Amino acid sequence: MPARISHVVLVGCCLALGTAQAQAPDPQLIDDLAAANRILFDQGVVDGFGHISARHDKDPGRFLLSRNMAPALVTAADILEYDVDSKPIDPQGRGVYLERFIHGEIYRARPDVKAIVHSHSPGVIPFSVTPVGLKPIYHMAAFLAVGVPVFEIRNTAGGAGDLLVSSNALGRALAATLADKPVVLMRGHGSVAVGNSVRQVVFRAVYTETNARLQAEALKLGPVTYLSEAEAAKMAPALDGQLARPWELWKRKALGQ
Ligand code: MN
Repeated sequence: MPARISHVVLVGCCLALGTAQAQAPDPQLIDDLAAANRILFDQGVVDGFGHISARHDKDPGRFLLSRNMAPALVTAADILEYDVDSKPIDPQGRGVYLERFIHGEIYRARPDVKAIVHSHSPGVIPFSVTPVGLKPIYHMAAFLAVGVPVFEIRNTAGGAGDLLVSSNALGRALAATLADKPVVLMRGHGSVAVGNSVRQVVFRAVYTETNARLQAEALKLGPVTYLSEAEAAKMAPALDGQLARPWELWKRKALGQ
């Protein structure tokens, strides 16, 4: 019995050490997240509002998100860690985003998701308030073919007030509407894109906005031929193989390099 007890103590000790050592996220991930904030502003996805997060690369129960500030001004020093309840680990007096619950609840519901963008990018708003569904009008937005649900916050308990996802309950309801999809629209508010990397989610956020603008233009002209499900299913992986190309361009432009 003494041997068993000492074994337990040892294991507990090593687990505690392991946890402590696993706390620091990859500095490259922090740098990418800071760059992504600037890219999303430069590409017209976010303005003074909106945010992007990344799941912690060593602790899946945490995510990384800027303190409360305009995305275009974010640097690596502004990135905070949060748990999946969207509580900041060590804010050091810094303010946090009201809608951080979007991120925590989607990370909790979707183990495959490694990065999330919430924005009010204007092109998608018309599709959030009309019965016209957002669909892939061109190959760059093939990922939309699996369907784009719309979150109606009025139908959610606790959502009868403002339009903000400002609680865990509202975040859970949004995550439930997103389900297994890459993008969800928020009625009269904006959208959320998710991805398996910072680069993929930036790509999706940019091309969701572009697709929405093009689709609205095309609908003025007449009946629209959208990508077929078969075309989209072949195109989406091809896009995922090309993420580095726009990323390097957008990053250089946004960082003024
Ligand atoms: Mn918002």
